[in-house]
Amino acid sequence: MRWFYIKMVKETPYYDILGVKPNCTNDELKKAYRKLALKYHPDKNPNEGERFKQISQAYEVLSNPDKRRIYDQAGEQGIKEGGAGGGGFSSPMDLFDMFFGGGFSGGRRRGRERKGKDVIHQLSVTLEELYKGAVRKLALQKNVICEKCEGRGGKKGAVQVCPTCRGTGMQVQIQQLGPGMIQQIQTVCSECRGQREIIDPKDRCKVCQGRKTVRDRKILEVHVDKGMKDGQKIVFSGEGDQEPGLEAGDLIIVLDEKEHAVFKRTGNDLIIRINIELVESLCGFQKVIRTLDDRDVVITVLPGEVTKHGEVKCVLNEGMPMYKNPFEKGQLIIQFLVNFPNAIPPEVMPALENCLPPRPVVEIPELAEECQLIDLDPEQETRRRRQHVANAYDEDDENSGVNRVQCATG
Ligand SMILES: [Zn+2]
Ligand SMILES: [Zn+2]
Repeated sequence: MRWFYIKMVKETPYYDILGVKPNCTNDELKKAYRKLALKYHPDKNPNEGERFKQISQAYEVLSNPDKRRIYDQAGEQGIKEGGAGGGGFSSPMDLFDMFFGGGFSGGRRRGRERKGKDVIHQLSVTLEELYKGAVRKLALQKNVICEKCEGRGGKKGAVQVCPTCRGTGMQVQIQQLGPGMIQQIQTVCSECRGQREIIDPKDRCKVCQGRKTVRDRKILEVHVDKGMKDGQKIVFSGEGDQEPGLEAGDLIIVLDEKEHAVFKRTGNDLIIRINIELVESLCGFQKVIRTLDDRDVVITVLPGEVTKHGEVKCVLNEGMPMYKNPFEKGQLIIQFLVNFPNAIPPEVMPALENCLPPRPVVEIPELAEECQLIDLDPEQETRRRRQHVANAYDEDDENSGVNRVQCATG
């Protein structure tokens, strides 16, 4: 007996924005958000502000189980009407900081005001690299203090405290509103535009044009250790943007594990699916599995033991190495899928039946009606149900949006 699930959702744009399926897991959502938020962050893609906002809103809704349920049932309209704690959204920047900042210790965040900007980069790594460890070279652009003017922006002595605001960057204007009533208005200094200092244009540093920093290309070696995980951060302290008078920000590398054609990783375990023929499932078999570090391991099921379709077995210590303890490994979990023949020649049937456990006796009542069995197309079924949901999404459903459909294949 085989079961499949059809998830019924009203609409999918939030899922589409993140590039995930409506039945995706929370981890898949996180990964999708992480990837897209880094790609479309205004620091990297200043023209994609709207996209960045959409990604943020979609993630904010779908990562919250209550909001996701409402979205699945009633779509964006349902979210805007605010079923679960209001329909408002966080600022995309706050969400981003929360998502990427959560892993840092309190000590690192202290004094953030006096630090230059952190630079976050995503590094795509293969499962093989995470298994064996790797050194990756990365070319990066960052702001460094201009060497020519040593971060002053001009010749020595050319930089003067702004006389207009006396170096505060602000100007106070006093307005007479009426007899005995005055109002103080603080504005950004018009002379230095809030920079607190001025440089005569003729004395301005030719290299940085008075900006004090220049863009610099840097090659960095990133050590990917055995057993590191998707989303893990590697921090290069002080390798972020430099700014005069501030401690340099950090460079943060976020690992992005590429999907593997053969193995699927879950924690420290690896999952592999192996197809076997019906004869192998009934009479035993051997298979060779090529590991991520290019060894061949052999698995054996002895004759006499039957391997059922969908059966799961595991090999100890052939999963992913543990981070910081790479001699310990997780398990290799193997699921066997049996290839059934599409048809069997009728003439071999008696011999075949002789080998198999006897079939049960079926008694057909005299008045039983003969009916026809036809194939069910799961895709068509999904479409039919989605249509149905769109017409009446508020219809009561005992499994809150997930319907169990029995498919008679065996
Ligand atoms: Zn000024
Ligand atoms: Zn300069």
